[in-house]
Amino acid sequence: MANKIPRVPVREQDPAVRATNFDEVSYGYDQGEAQLEASRCLGCKNPRCVADCPVSIRIPDFIMKVRDGDFQAAADIIAQDSSLPSVCGRVCPQETQCEGACILGIKGEPVTIGKLERFVGDWNIAHGDKTPPQITPNGRRVAIVGSGPAGLACASDLARLGYAATIFEALHKAGGVLQYGIPEFRLPKERVVACEIESLRRLGVTIDTDTIVGRTVTVDELLDQEGFDAVFIGSGAGLPKFMGIPGENLNGVVSANEFLTRANLMRAYDKGYDTPIHTGERVVVVGGGNVAMDAVRTAKRLGSEAVIVYRRSQAELPARVEEVHHAGEEGIEFRMLTNPVEILGDERGWVRGIRCVRMELGEPDASGRRSPVEIKGSEFEIECQTVVMALGTSPNPLIATTTNGLQTQRWGGIVADDDGATSREGIFAGGDAVTGAATVILAMGAGRAAARAIDRYVMDKLEG
Ligand SMILES: Cc1cc2nc3c(=O)[nH]c(=O)nc-3n(C[C@H](O)[C@H](O)[C@H](O)COP(=O)(O)OP(=O)(O)OC[C@H]3O[C@@H](n4cnc5c(N)ncnc54)[C@H](O)[C@@H]3O)c2cc1C
Repeated sequence: MANKIPRVPVREQDPAVRATNFDEVSYGYDQGEAQLEASRCLGCKNPRCVADCPVSIRIPDFIMKVRDGDFQAAADIIAQDSSLPSVCGRVCPQETQCEGACILGIKGEPVTIGKLERFVGDWNIAHGDKTPPQITPNGRRVAIVGSGPAGLACASDLARLGYAATIFEALHKAGGVLQYGIPEFRLPKERVVACEIESLRRLGVTIDTDTIVGRTVTVDELLDQEGFDAVFIGSGAGLPKFMGIPGENLNGVVSANEFLTRANLMRAYDKGYDTPIHTGERVVVVGGGNVAMDAVRTAKRLGSEAVIVYRRSQAELPARVEEVHHAGEEGIEFRMLTNPVEILGDERGWVRGIRCVRMELGEPDASGRRSPVEIKGSEFEIECQTVVMALGTSPNPLIATTTNGLQTQRWGGIVADDDGATSREGIFAGGDAVTGAATVILAMGAGRAAARAIDRYVMDKLEG
């Protein structure tokens, strides 16, 4: 019986060693390991894993091809629904999606779908057929704002349908959070992100970096003057939130976004590079999501003691289970049920510590999680030289304020329906710009839905 085979473990760098370098934590499967793990899949007739994948990858079909050693066929199956398998295999929250739905998980351990997807993606980068598919251009042009997963997925599907898709990206490198947010030790930039983006260029997608839509050119100009038939906005949610506590403007307080951008995109971790990054002996990261885990593990690798301060308990940590586990192994200190009330400065205006208060869990709030309640008189200080705020982000208002008639929510998200249609004809939106900070695969799903809607919109207009 296939499900009698135990789950094949994945090899990882030793925690004590990896806490001092930026090399990837997980080595992934080799061919033999991937085939053995693939042989555990039962090939369900009504696969729950596919239903729980936001881009509906035909999971059992690709896994059967892995089992049979036909890796090109496995890559071709995934490519029908995802242009970023190496990325998603590494960063998707599989435990709450495909793997969470795997029938083997009811009595034992689910198939490691993410690790198999990563194996196929990496195999394809190294050995796969790079011949672009035959595409007949349809003569129509679509502009895409932002080169994160939403924009990339939208551009990929539109290019396959024959559109000339042009991505406008504010930064000097494409990839959005994949490039500037998620650290190298979780998602290698040259070996994975750049290669998967290159596959889009082979489809004919143009990427114009260093172009800020709303400054260099507006959405209205793209439609009215530049001759684009439609615009997709996938500009993400890059505006960081702060707590509003005293001391937040001291030197040494940064948002996780800035901290990670410096480390990743500006290679502050590379001693041969000139980008400064302030850390000191101890870095406190406030928050409990994926972003907080990435920031705290980056701080550790930069040579500091690194501490997470989170106001709820371990059970409520919103970060992926794997990231929390890895952080623990690497010696990250977790201060749970702890909430900052003030950041303390020295006479030169630099951070010297953080004053916190202990919390306990009360009644569940609207999200169903138990609300943290302050314990009176429990204040204490943690000495540190840097405080990184990882409290979530919201969409940057630039696009909304420079596009006529584009409706937004009060918190800044662009109003769009499930197909990405906004309050303006011809303008579609998706990903974090619409939902607020979410996940890579949900952003990709939104980009794909919008590509289908854009195609319907452009074709209807041509016929009408
Ligand atoms: C540190 C970190 C770790 C994360 N870890 C995970 C994880 O492990 N798993 C997971 O699933 N999700 C994770 N996420 C969330 C995930 O990365 C996002 O949900 C996803 O990237 C959203 O995709 P997007 O395309 O909507 O936006 P983004 O990835 O944010 O891309 C938006 C792009 O638009 C560009 N842009 C913005 N404004 C303009 C403009 N005016 N003109 C031109 N370009 C513009 C930006 O520069 C950016 O490149 C993480 C997020 C962060 C920050």
